[in-house]
Amino acid sequence: MANTGPESQTILVVGGGIAGITAAVEVAETGYDVILLERDPSLGGRVTRFARYFPKLCHPTCGLEINYQRIKKNSQIKVITMATVAAVSGQRGNFTVTVETQPRHVNAKCTACGDCARATEMEVPNPFNYGLDRTRAAHLPHEHAFPMRYVIAPEAAANGEGEKMKAACKYGAIDLDEKPETFEIKVGAIIWATGWKPYDAAKITAYAYDLSPDIISNVEMERLAAHDGPTGGRILRPSDGEPAKRVALIQCAGSRDVNHLPYCSRICCLGSLKHAAYLREQYADAEADIYYIDIRAHDKLEAFYNRLKADPQVHFIKSKPGHIEIGDDGRPVIRGEHTLSREIYETPYDLVVLATGMEPTAAADYRPPVELIQDEYGFIVPDDGVDGGMIAAGVAGGPLDVSMSVQSATAAALKAIQAVRGV
Ligand SMILES: Cc1cc2nc3c(=O)[nH]c(=O)nc-3n(C[C@H](O)[C@H](O)[C@H](O)COP(=O)(O)OP(=O)(O)OC[C@H]3O[C@@H](n4cnc5c(N)ncnc54)[C@H](O)[C@@H]3O)c2cc1C
Repeated sequence: MANTGPESQTILVVGGGIAGITAAVEVAETGYDVILLERDPSLGGRVTRFARYFPKLCHPTCGLEINYQRIKKNSQIKVITMATVAAVSGQRGNFTVTVETQPRHVNAKCTACGDCARATEMEVPNPFNYGLDRTRAAHLPHEHAFPMRYVIAPEAAANGEGEKMKAACKYGAIDLDEKPETFEIKVGAIIWATGWKPYDAAKITAYAYDLSPDIISNVEMERLAAHDGPTGGRILRPSDGEPAKRVALIQCAGSRDVNHLPYCSRICCLGSLKHAAYLREQYADAEADIYYIDIRAHDKLEAFYNRLKADPQVHFIKSKPGHIEIGDDGRPVIRGEHTLSREIYETPYDLVVLATGMEPTAAADYRPPVELIQDEYGFIVPDDGVDGGMIAAGVAGGPLDVSMSVQSATAAALKAIQAVRGV
């Protein structure tokens, strides 16, 4: 596309996960204005919901908190939550973007005191915990939320509960009349950092996800292991709250499968190794069986794999299970054939975790309202449109772990700066 010379040097970042946050901070610390749009009520994306990060098993909030401090200190970053892009027109250096916001019903006067939550008994499914539990209709998105501001569920704002919350707020922070809004911004480049969503485990019908609460997905396992999750960090069977000590971790659940996600998400093997580590830390007598086609522990992550392989209570079973049934005692039973020994197995477990892959948001539930080159799976070709002023960062551009997402975001920031400078 011909460069007509930039009219705006502001850079828009769509998506406030680790990639979008990184891109925004890098852009702003180089001296450019940046607008960061996030669809959820707080920043951080999927990683905020992890108990810990592989390979060092550190807590995700450490890395995120440093970035939040960088955002707070930098007046060149404007963060808009509960916002997305509804339309884009123009070209590199001169885009007009229509932003659409959803009501939070809580304004910037909120001190996060929690009086609004205490004023209501109404509960809604907790989106942060993937609906594994319920939360008050007025709630903080999670304990480390940025911005640290409550949000009111739309169904509560619309009925008498909202009035109770409003009456309880001493700071005048509740606005029940807030409506969805649209407005336009002018920017010179756009970084798409819209990330991923977990592949829907219910679509893998042979694995009976819908038939037992004790068959969960890998992202749900993260919440079970998280100290701020529905069980306070204890890995318990959702059906009866008993400790889950015989646990199966099924790799490639719906991945590398033409009927579901044909590609490898690259991180699921590491995710399941991490889940085995969570389990073994909690219960000295726990055993984890990892069913795999092949273990993909890329680059330096091989050491993490070797660590788990050395644990005699973590078993690696080379097999793609055929199906899961519910046994007479209500436990899930995995059936299949061992690839090497050809033995048929039929094994009951306390808990089965399906390692489902990462589906690009831009293919699953948000189509960017502008023509971008997307590969056959919906990932935005990362370098597409550098000349056109649009760049992908993080998992929006392909399956990556956090460190690779951060690298891709830094690269995207540099490309966006080049775009607004007309280089
Ligand atoms: C089970 C599991 C465990 C994992 N564990 C680890 C681990 O331990 N260590 C590791 O390195 N990696 C891990 N990963 C990979 C890690 O989750 C990704 O690398 C990381 O989430 C990529 O960040 P991102 O910012 O690209 O995407 P996301 O985290 O998905 O963030 C994207 C953000 O964009 C927002 N958004 C989406 N669409 C829009 C829109 N239209 N408008 C505005 N905002 C939008 C979303 O709300 C979200 O906040 C794991 C993955 C899985 C599946």
